[in-house]
Amino acid sequence: MTTTLPTELEKLSVSDLLLSDRGLATQALHADEAIKDVPDVAPPIHVSTTFRYPENPEELVPLRAPDETLTSPPTSKNSGLTTPHVYSRHTAPNTTRLETLLSTLLHGRVLTYTSGLAALHAALVFLNPKRIAIGHGYHGCQGVVELHQKLTNCSILDLDCPADSLGEGDVIHLETPINPTGEAFDIKHYADKAHSRGAYLIVDSTFAPPPLQDPFALGADIVMHAGTKYIGGHSDMLCGILAVKSVEWQKQLLLERLVLGSVMGSLEGWLGVRSLRTLELRVKRQSTNATNLVQWLHGQLTSPTPNVTNTVLAKIAHASLQTSEMAWLEKQMPNGYGPVFSIWMKNEELARHLPSRLGLFMHATSLGGVESLIEWRTMTDSTQDVRLLRISVGVEDWEDLRDDFEGAFRGLSKLA
Ligand SMILES: *Cc1c(COP(=O)(O)O)cnc(C)c1O
Repeated sequence: MTTTLPTELEKLSVSDLLLSDRGLATQALHADEAIKDVPDVAPPIHVSTTFRYPENPEELVPLRAPDETLTSPPTSKNSGLTTPHVYSRHTAPNTTRLETLLSTLLHGRVLTYTSGLAALHAALVFLNPKRIAIGHGYHGCQGVVELHQKLTNCSILDLDCPADSLGEGDVIHLETPINPTGEAFDIKHYADKAHSRGAYLIVDSTFAPPPLQDPFALGADIVMHAGTKYIGGHSDMLCGILAVKSVEWQKQLLLERLVLGSVMGSLEGWLGVRSLRTLELRVKRQSTNATNLVQWLHGQLTSPTPNVTNTVLAKIAHASLQTSEMAWLEKQMPNGYGPVFSIWMKNEELARHLPSRLGLFMHATSLGGVESLIEWRTMTDSTQDVRLLRISVGVEDWEDLRDDFEGAFRGLSKLA
């Protein structure tokens, strides 16, 4: 087994990775130029689990000690690509290409995993904290932290625990914007808190993919994404992502991923490259659509005149409604807010019936795809209020989504 990064990833400097004078949409199409070694315009699909060693016996570098190959990576062309891929539990071409693109887009060094939760698990195995401070976000992340506690006996603290209850090497896990409401938390505040104690800040930035938020710019040590959501963007792949600042951390994570075995399937790696080409278009559209819908719903809800919306709707939450916190929020999310928000109906029955009354929003869990979804959240998260519905806004015309809500509320208001 080898512990090297593919040479092409290692040789790229951070400025290569950033293509720093280019915009995000350009980067998403061209940040993999350096490892494009086939004439195909569309990315090819590689499915091999194993890769031939160099023909030339002089180029064979046996693994004697784990560190040796770190300093002498293989250099030959062995698959038509200049990739020293050996075995796909280590690295494979489609996934390496996805990771190369993501390293540019996320401003860090990226590895991908089978799912978002597998990525968080890998981060905890890597940092092995004695204490983890975590809020009430995506319930699955809480589950990963509890598994880590089962193995290590670490303490689980509240996100807003006193700073002096944290120590060297501990972790603050911050999800922002948070599931299911899409409300934002101040990344810099939690970065400063972690660093004042020698602890690390992991930011789960799933709800605000590029270009909406760059947690590294505000002090995050590890940025995590459920790539299943906006990075994939088409509801057809599971993917977890960790981005870190140094090659050393990336190397260690790669070594540990090789043993954990939580690598993405090759076809998912290819789907991910396909998806990133339109990331900027999709996310900007989804963000604008969501903010337009939220502003309209909020306007109807707070209107002094009775209407079909304020007859059935009790409450709405989204980062765009955090008007008293704009001082830091506009700096953290300068390009728009996340495309997920939540609404509370006046009672459980109205919440149960709303999804079936909508024509464009599909009633399903998950989020981030091009199609709009709504979920009566109690279907998959027992910790949520039974009146709450989570909405993931897609790329449809927002006026049609608005009309869909208005029609459904009209029908329900006759029952209310
Ligand atoms: C979906 C999600 C996860 C978990 O991702 P999977 O790919 O389903 O494992 C983690 N965090 C957030 C905020 C999510 O939305």
